[in-house]
Amino acid sequence: MNIVLATRNRKKVEEIGRIFRGYDVRFLPVDSFPGCPEVEEDGKTFRQNAVKKAVSIAQFTGCLAIADDSGLEVKALAGAPGVFSARYAGEGADDRKNLRKLLREMKGLEGAERQARFVCCIAIALPDGKVKTFTGHAEGEIGEKSRGYNGFGYDPVFYPAGHHRTFAEMSDAEKDSLSHRGKALKKLYIYLKKQFFNPR
Ligand code: IMP
Repeated sequence: MNIVLATRNRKKVEEIGRIFRGYDVRFLPVDSFPGCPEVEEDGKTFRQNAVKKAVSIAQFTGCLAIADDSGLEVKALAGAPGVFSARYAGEGADDRKNLRKLLREMKGLEGAERQARFVCCIAIALPDGKVKTFTGHAEGEIGEKSRGYNGFGYDPVFYPAGHHRTFAEMSDAEKDSLSHRGKALKKLYIYLKKQFFNPR
């Protein structure tokens, strides 16, 4: 069975390939299908964006398709940056600019006001239009300064609940075991194995 991943990120393709090693499935990056449409992420929720991407790619390729959308929600900022996480400081802004804007917006906030969570929604779409979604959360708080060099995005300021190190100070494996993406992937993994796959 072929499953298309709605990502041009080779690391994500390799990661999911590793999880399903030994199973009768091949994961293909979307760029194996020339002409596949770019999908605009204009939904109000992570779920809407993930579903839109997965459905559009399943329809175009005729294969099962998986897409995800993720970001950071800060309670005291009414859920911002939310679905705008990748472009919080403006269209084309990089991680550093987005992170600087977050710290600026949170200046003066203390204690519980610094609570935040990462959210990841993964959607899987069948060519006939059926869709299923899986969501993972990582609760925590936002520090006042960047710490650590691993990961990406807001990792250097995010302290997962119960930890005194940021995601950027953790190894990939440790972050995966706590992260929103790790949790959503685990749910997808259980579903796919039950529904579709037998070991080779
Ligand atoms: P996307 O799901 O690839 O569109 O990511 C949206 C944005 O959310 C990223 O550009 C980051 O700014 C932020 N984000 C999502 N997941 C993480 C994470 O695990 N660590 C840090 N930032 C993240």
